[in-house]
Amino acid sequence: MKTTLQAYRFALDPNNVGRAGLRRHAGACRFAFDWGLARVKAALAQREAEESYGLAGDLLTAVPWTLPALRLAWNTVKNDIAPWWAECSKEAFSAGLAQLAAGLKNFSDSRTGRRKGRKVGFPRFKKRGKARDSFRYTTGSYGPDGDRHVKLPRIGRVKVHEPMGALTALLGDGRARLLGVAVSRTAGRWFVSFTVAVEREIPDGPSARQATGGVIGVDLGVKHLAVLSTGEKVPNPKHAAWAEKKLRKTSRAYARSQPGSSGRRKLAADLAKQHAHTANQRRDGLHKVTTELARTHHTVVIEDLHVAGMVRNHSLAKAVSEVGMGELRRQLEYKCGRWVRDPKTRTQVYVPGWHGAHLHVADRWYPSSKTCSGCGWRNPSLTLSDRTFSCPSCGLVIDRDENAAVNLARLVDREYIGDVKTARGADRKTNAPAPPARRRVAVKREPGTAKTGQTRGASPKGEAA
Ligand SMILES: [Zn+2]
Repeated sequence: MKTTLQAYRFALDPNNVGRAGLRRHAGACRFAFDWGLARVKAALAQREAEESYGLAGDLLTAVPWTLPALRLAWNTVKNDIAPWWAECSKEAFSAGLAQLAAGLKNFSDSRTGRRKGRKVGFPRFKKRGKARDSFRYTTGSYGPDGDRHVKLPRIGRVKVHEPMGALTALLGDGRARLLGVAVSRTAGRWFVSFTVAVEREIPDGPSARQATGGVIGVDLGVKHLAVLSTGEKVPNPKHAAWAEKKLRKTSRAYARSQPGSSGRRKLAADLAKQHAHTANQRRDGLHKVTTELARTHHTVVIEDLHVAGMVRNHSLAKAVSEVGMGELRRQLEYKCGRWVRDPKTRTQVYVPGWHGAHLHVADRWYPSSKTCSGCGWRNPSLTLSDRTFSCPSCGLVIDRDENAAVNLARLVDREYIGDVKTARGADRKTNAPAPPARRRVAVKREPGTAKTGQTRGASPKGEAA
């Protein structure tokens, strides 16, 4: 048994009273955030002035930078600046302060280099109507109330758009525990998202079905959602073309509408709704694909795509973000187990996935597209527009993406030895460019396990035994 964190998200159908309550709480959250930010800015300015007078150390004004400090400061002033505070749950204010504290931490971590990735700026005020409405509860009596309602402190019972059967069943028989609930508004629609700790039976190793499925390479494409090494192509969501036509129509109408008019406001709301709908459909489609992959194979191999970089490339941006490559990888990462570097101990630790399968991420520079899956010949001049891979060396003619997928699967066939959870050397050995098939890669091998080439389709568990 292993405890995993999971989110269950449902759309809400609030009545007018409920809607007013939701709006009031989102407003309270924003109010606390903006108050806190103003307080921090004032304290920083005060400090700067004091420093210019030569003050230092304890004599300087303290800046409420952390959540406890912000909460303390808020509690001393709330009666004066927000005498109406009791109309809302205190959790709403707390949520705003927590968002601010997180923003401040991300800012300072980014500046000192503790946080990787894009630079994070100093938090900005939440403009009414511009900022995303959201708040959360972590304490109090909240949760599903029957199958179709959710109970939110100070707001009351709010109707849920679809039945919550899966969640209520888990909570009902004690397999899951509620940790918090976030409420947010996207494209005019309110959603609740329950964070739940779920007790899961994590399989020790691949099932018989997964063992039979063996290794599968997954090439995340632009034309297709994914192309598998079996040659199967997972199409992009069907609704996409139709939805895009509708989107184009609405955005054209929006561009022509009069700024500030009520028609324009309505069109903006329509646009947001359509975008949100497409995103939901895509997420559902991805879940189907990733669950199927994780349930039917013992190892799934994907490339390490630099998604943020690809989105910056204009010609690829639309396709990449539409297809949701980053999302596909994110889902595979928790449905399959994988090796992760623990920054504290600086060692590789194995994080098991839900379905007992293993995820192998090929190195970013592994030339899966440029290498012939038949003989290992490399075509250095392959471009994105070459949809077919033709090999002058062995005569193989194959779909470009399928060729890449086969190479990805091969990578593990060559390097995957015995039990994935003990053959950790194999996992680190992916940065070398694809060697021709006849040359063996030197990998660390567990004593007594099978040799390369004998592992395809076999259960690692079975071999170890
Ligand atoms: Zn070839």
